[in-house]
Amino acid sequence: MYLKRIELHGFKSFADKVNVEFQPGITGIVGPNGCGKSNISDAVRWVLGEQSVKSLRGANMSDVIFAGSEDRRAQNLAEVTLVFDNSDRFMKYDYNEVEITRRLYRQNNEAEYLINKQQCRLKDIVDLIMDTGLGRDSLSIISQGNISSFADSKPEERRGIFEEAAGVSKYKKRKLESIRKLERTKENLERIGDIVAELE
Ligand code: ATP
Repeated sequence: MYLKRIELHGFKSFADKVNVEFQPGITGIVGPNGCGKSNISDAVRWVLGEQSVKSLRGANMSDVIFAGSEDRRAQNLAEVTLVFDNSDRFMKYDYNEVEITRRLYRQNNEAEYLINKQQCRLKDIVDLIMDTGLGRDSLSIISQGNISSFADSKPEERRGIFEEAAGVSKYKKRKLESIRKLERTKENLERIGDIVAELE
């Protein structure tokens, strides 16, 4: 599996539709300061489910929508699609290509998520990428400042980073979900017990 293409439209500085193609191997993106290099990695994180406005370097989520320039009106929609080559079926999805799309409308702040052009929930995207090492907190994207914050982090935070890299975090997340489910079931059982006691 590898990232073949990013399609950006109305995302941050990318007012017009832009396709960025990647070949297997290493790709470098170069350009002058402020030309939008980091906006591309923001776009990748955004599609993969990033919900933290701060880490997308904005104040509101709508700041990811092209805000207009001297000669261009602002856009009302930001849309980014990541196209993955999945011919090795690394993602548990039976297609050679997997397209993941996220949209945000300025008018109502409404978000849309799609997998291969079919609307889905954010959770479906998170679940799809969870086993691939591309998760929101994974090390697949190392932003500016990440290395120094890793060096400065507390031991338990650093452990979290190792767990993510080792693929342990997905099991921890599933364990937490199961514990919550068990707790809810226990509460329901207690409630049923009370009702039965009242009826007896
Ligand atoms: P550097 O090399 O300095 O790190 P960079 O190439 O990584 O720069 P980015 O940080 O990706 O540049 O892009 C910053 C540019 O994106 C700024 O010019 C900023 O005005 C523009 N930008 C960010 N958000 C929006 C938006 N919503 N609408 C229009 N332009 C935006």
